[in-house]
Amino acid sequence: MRNSKIKKKRPLGLLLVKIFIFTLCISSLVQAAVGQATVVRGENESTLLLQQISQIRSHNKKLKLENKNLQSGIIKKEASYKEKMANTKIAYLTFDDGPSENTVEILRILKQYDVKATFFVNGHPNYSYLYKQISDEGHLLANHTYSHEYKDIYNSPDNFKNDTEKLDRYLTSVTGKEPNYILRFPGGSNNTISNNFGGNEIMTSVIKEMNASGYKYFDWNVDSTDASTYCQDRNKIVQAVLSESSQTKHAIILMHDLAPKITTVQALPEIIEGLKNQGFIFDVLSKKAYAPQFTVVK
Ligand SMILES: [Zn+2]
Repeated sequence: MRNSKIKKKRPLGLLLVKIFIFTLCISSLVQAAVGQATVVRGENESTLLLQQISQIRSHNKKLKLENKNLQSGIIKKEASYKEKMANTKIAYLTFDDGPSENTVEILRILKQYDVKATFFVNGHPNYSYLYKQISDEGHLLANHTYSHEYKDIYNSPDNFKNDTEKLDRYLTSVTGKEPNYILRFPGGSNNTISNNFGGNEIMTSVIKEMNASGYKYFDWNVDSTDASTYCQDRNKIVQAVLSESSQTKHAIILMHDLAPKITTVQALPEIIEGLKNQGFIFDVLSKKAYAPQFTVVK
């Protein structure tokens, strides 16, 4: 009987094993639950990313379409601009050999009519302030060589180039602007006086040299005749310009800006008004502008 009252002691080892198994089960359950939550969260994130990718794709598609429309708009506008410009009459007033005291009045008239012109100047350091004024008022200062001395400039292509570059340097020093490489040959590209100094092929070699140096030269297709005599009649100048200009869409008009050429200044207002009546707009020369060239050398 005594023996039956004595409780049987359970072995400690077995208890520990049970606790261990129990803990293992709980931990597995927790891990499974956490894993399940991670998978769900991962799935949600992937769905969100896919949605974002699809939104970016459709935005990209929209941008491509807008870009295409813009491009075709640009092409249409360019075509209509070209067509409009092809039918636009443009007058380029050009004044050679200055500046001189006449330039002041020429600039005043141009300002009055709000017209821009091109000045093919030489080196006249006494009028240094005028180069700056020409440039500051929106006109183009173009190159007509520094000296205009036929015997020097047309002696060799090197001489011509040096003299032209001398003017470029001078203009840059006075105006602070870089050279524009717009050139007019003294006497025009077909003058024959140059042959006396550099031989019969001098113009061909000079033109080649200047083309290779990046200059674009402009002769003219409208001659005001103000250089035909020392002081040409004012009305003859007006008539010459207006009748020759009426034959062309792009009028490159030759005039002179030396001290004796007073009648050119007097003719200018009527020339501008006459050209406006013919439907011309006014512009300064540029490398893109139509260039009459009497002598073309490839
Ligand atoms: Zn000249």
